[in-house]
Amino acid sequence: MKSRCYTESASLLARAKKVLAGGVSSEFRKYNQPHAIFYTHGTGSRVYDVDGNEYLDFTLSQGPLILGHSHPHVLKSVHEYSEKGQLFAGQHIKEILLAEKLNSLIPSAESMRFCLDGSEAVQTAFRIARAKTGKQKFLRFEGHYHGWMDNVCWGISTPPGESLGSREQPRVYPWSEGLPIQSKEEFITLPWNDLELVKNTVEREHKNIAAIITEPVMCNNGCIPPENGFLQGLRDICDQYEIALIFDEVITGFRLSIGGAQRYFGITPDLSIFGKAMASGYPISAIVGKNEWMAVIEQGRVIHAGTMNSSNATVAAALATIEVLEEHLPYDRMLHYGTKLMQGLRSAAIESGHDLLVQGMGPMFNISFSKKEKVRDFRDTLDGDKQKLGKFISGMHDEGVRVIGRGLWYISASHTEEDIDYAINKARKVFNVI
Ligand code: PMP
Repeated sequence: MKSRCYTESASLLARAKKVLAGGVSSEFRKYNQPHAIFYTHGTGSRVYDVDGNEYLDFTLSQGPLILGHSHPHVLKSVHEYSEKGQLFAGQHIKEILLAEKLNSLIPSAESMRFCLDGSEAVQTAFRIARAKTGKQKFLRFEGHYHGWMDNVCWGISTPPGESLGSREQPRVYPWSEGLPIQSKEEFITLPWNDLELVKNTVEREHKNIAAIITEPVMCNNGCIPPENGFLQGLRDICDQYEIALIFDEVITGFRLSIGGAQRYFGITPDLSIFGKAMASGYPISAIVGKNEWMAVIEQGRVIHAGTMNSSNATVAAALATIEVLEEHLPYDRMLHYGTKLMQGLRSAAIESGHDLLVQGMGPMFNISFSKKEKVRDFRDTLDGDKQKLGKFISGMHDEGVRVIGRGLWYISASHTEEDIDYAINKARKVFNVI
């Protein structure tokens, strides 16, 4: 296998480690192959590092770059609107235009607030749900990622050798040290895709449950679609017991359809969170919801604030991204390319005798080395061969194809048929040597 050289990145990483904790600014960036890499620029489906290596990029910077790197319309809009000012600690016209746009595209987006990232928008949703219902806990699902804040920093990792406990009463482990121990009391965790379990639990606990939060597709572990009737079942349960149904659309938003998973599946949550693909890599997210829920913010009963919220650059980036998505509607193409890539990877793995599970929706999907034909929840994903996956991702990286370390692939509007063929050919080569 051709070995790429990463010496310049390695030396910058050594320098960075002296002043940046661990050399990076987000934990996940440590886990690049073979180590954190320093990039110089990106354009379309390609990104380049300081050693002069070119990569066909399927990470899309963890999802945001739905139009690919450096889309000219986004850059131009950001530049032009930033020249008028950066941040007013006050309102500006494009903020209304963006809110009106989301309102017209996203079924649950009757009212909204803009934030900086997915993590804080999730916390805003919990605060709204607690204020309106007068209840304290939220129900969440094993393996779903809702950001890195204290109360969601549980239930997403399992220390080696530890068990997840029973399905009815899962054991959860902290993902980090330093969490307040009482943050563990804020939620109930269940395996995903098991409606009976949710029904029974809510029947018993509904007096304490303010919200049920779910990724509408479990993108962060296995890229697992909801089973038929599961999301509708959650909707019905929430209606019955005055519980907020929260869709965390940080990944599915603007990716599965222009109106998110809620428009794709035809299930309208009470509150939802959008981020990532909404603004091509600029820091803006949205907590959107039905008027009756968002009213607690409108009335000033729930405080949501932020000095940097809805800056000119981020709002312009979001509007420009959505303009391009609306004009070109790349969704059929992303689905086609994603499906072709999924099939190509399956065939290439079979040719070289690997058991590869490829699962997902097309515009995003996941691979794992497993004999299973499908995975239904987090527990199912745990027996995948992580070592082999690491070798494959590393091998692909050396071949110039960049994929997220845990096996998640994102398709962008800038990927071409040739890109897909290129990736399949490289995968065939790598499968043969791992
Ligand atoms: N929710 C989901 C579903 C996510 O995938 C992420 C980030 N990967 C978040 C929330 C947190 O978003 P952010 O990193 O922007 O805080």
